[in-house]
Amino acid sequence: MIDIQNVSKWYGSFQVLTDCSTKINKSEVVVVCGPSGSGKSTLIKTVNALEPFQKGDIVVDGISLANPKTDLPKLRSRVGMVFQHFELFPHLSVTENLTLAQIKVLGRNPTDAKTRGLKMLERVGLMAHKDKFPGQLSGGQQQRVAIARALSMDPIVMLFDEPTSALDPEMVGEVLDVMVKLAGEGMTMMVVTHEMGFAKKVSHRVIFMDAGKVVEDCTRDEFFSNSDARSPRAKEFLSKIL
Ligand code: ADP
Ligand code: MG
Repeated sequence: MIDIQNVSKWYGSFQVLTDCSTKINKSEVVVVCGPSGSGKSTLIKTVNALEPFQKGDIVVDGISLANPKTDLPKLRSRVGMVFQHFELFPHLSVTENLTLAQIKVLGRNPTDAKTRGLKMLERVGLMAHKDKFPGQLSGGQQQRVAIARALSMDPIVMLFDEPTSALDPEMVGEVLDVMVKLAGEGMTMMVVTHEMGFAKKVSHRVIFMDAGKVVEDCTRDEFFSNSDARSPRAKEFLSKIL
C-alpha cells in the first residue's frame, strides 16, 4: 500500500532524511519511533505529499509521488492524517468539521457528507456531541473527532503523528482505544508514537529512526526482544522510555 523507496530530503543544506526505505502492506499497522528530531514527522509528511523530497520515490496504492503527472491533492485526499494538535476548525461545529472537506474536496453533496460524517462520529463514540464546537470538548474528544474527520474521507491509509502526545494522561486511553479498533478492522496505519503499549498490542512492525535514517525495520516481536539483531541506538532508546 505504501512503498517508500530510498527517500532523501534536505532542508537547504541540512539533510533531514537519508535513503529511507520501507514498505507497508495493506491492513498492516507500522509504528515509527525514535528520538526527537530524528525525522519521523518529516517522513510521515512526505507520504502524504505535505513535504516534498529530492531523491527516491514513494508509491501509495500504485501511484508514484515523484511522478510530476500525479495529482497530489487528489492523492492527499485519500490519505488520512491525524496530527498531534487536532487542527479542528474552532468556529465550526463538530458536524461541520466532519463534512467540510467531504463537500469541498470530494464534491459530496451535504446530505451524503453529513450521513457519512455522523456514521464516523458514531464509530468514535461521540454522537452526543455532534452539535458542539471543538472548544466545548476535551482534548481526547477533539482528537477522536479529528480521527472521525479523516475517516469520513474514505482513506486508503491512515497516518498518525504522535496523536496522543498533546493529551493529558487520562485521555490517552480513549484515543488509543479508537486506534486499536481501527487496526482491528483492517485499516492500514502508519503511526508515529512513543506509546509502546500500543506498539506491543497492535503493531505488526516497528520502524526505529535515528538522525534521518531508518535504523531498524523489523517485526514487533523482534523489536521488543533483547536479541543482538537490534541496534544499540534502538536498545538505548527503549531502555529510556520503557
Ligand atoms: P521528529 O518528528 O522525529 O521529532 P522532525 O521530522 O520534526 O523530527 O525533524 C527532523 C529534523 O528536521 C529536525 O532536526 C528538525 O529541526 C528539522 N526540521 C524539521 N522541519 C524543518 C523545516 N521546516 N526547516 C528546517 N528544518 C526542519
Ligand atoms: Mg515529530
